[in-house]
Amino acid sequence: MDFKNVFYLYSGRIFLLDCNGYLIECTEMRDVAVDGKQHLEVRESDDPHIVWKHLVDYKKKWLMTVSTQKGCTHNCLFCDVAGLPFKGNLTQEEIEYQVKFILKNTDYIKVCDKAKIGFARMGEPAHNLDNVIATIKRLPEISKEQNKQFRWLPCFNTILPRQCKNNPLDVLDSVIETKEKYYDGFLHLQISCNSTSEETRTRLFGGASVLDLESIIAHVNRQHTTNRTVTLNFIVMKDIEVDVNKLKAMGMSGDKFAVKLIPLNKTNNANNNSLETYANYSNYEKLLQLKDEFSKAGVPTVVDAIAKCEEAGLCCGQLAQIYQ
Ligand code: SF4
Repeated sequence: MDFKNVFYLYSGRIFLLDCNGYLIECTEMRDVAVDGKQHLEVRESDDPHIVWKHLVDYKKKWLMTVSTQKGCTHNCLFCDVAGLPFKGNLTQEEIEYQVKFILKNTDYIKVCDKAKIGFARMGEPAHNLDNVIATIKRLPEISKEQNKQFRWLPCFNTILPRQCKNNPLDVLDSVIETKEKYYDGFLHLQISCNSTSEETRTRLFGGASVLDLESIIAHVNRQHTTNRTVTLNFIVMKDIEVDVNKLKAMGMSGDKFAVKLIPLNKTNNANNNSLETYANYSNYEKLLQLKDEFSKAGVPTVVDAIAKCEEAGLCCGQLAQIYQ
């Protein structure tokens, strides 16, 4: 795999790597931590200096993402990876290479209490389960080889497709088993939900049949889980149903689940499909109201409205699309 280029965001970098003629992306970023008035300042400002003031120390938390496939078989209406040609799974070595590449290019980071790595840049990891899980298990060894003292937090982010060589329930079992056996519960399983209407979910996932929310909740409720709960992700969009009561009636509780509400990024695909965000930096209160509804239902909920990657045109797959 060859290094092709690097691009800078306010809080990190996107690397483009050439994998046998196909460009894949991986990233490294610092978290932005702010509350109250300062949160407003960071949300509404395009001045990098404002963001830089609030970057979290690498020692406390650091964020990475790696690709798991060359493109993606799915055609989610909100994602620009969908516009790229699909050329198959990355091998375990190719996924691991990205991790090593990031670590080698961040030699100044020797210690990190929360090295969060998402297997979620390009590709749906459920289709490449064995290679992704093998890499997750290898993480402590990889950082040790590079003399880094990291406490890893792997993050498996999936739409749980039904048409997959791995049954989606087996995918859940495999990730949860890895979470409990290898990471003492400190693995972050995030499931893309985006709506509480199954019909709408299928449409948003470009026609892909995905495991329904009722089955996800029932299955996770039956599992023994410790430490991290399972996160249900909602990219919140205008006129798209997100009904807390429906989820509660299905058995969602704060014992097993957390919820993440994410404004829709300004991707080309979302634009072409006339999707609009429900709320964002300027009408942030609407997101807080929705968060309140989940909190009242007893489910810990976070709003993720700080990362402004779309402002630079650098959401997942956008850079590779330009270069391809
Ligand atoms: S959101 Fe995930 S599954 Fe959907 S097209 Fe993008 S990479 Fe593929």
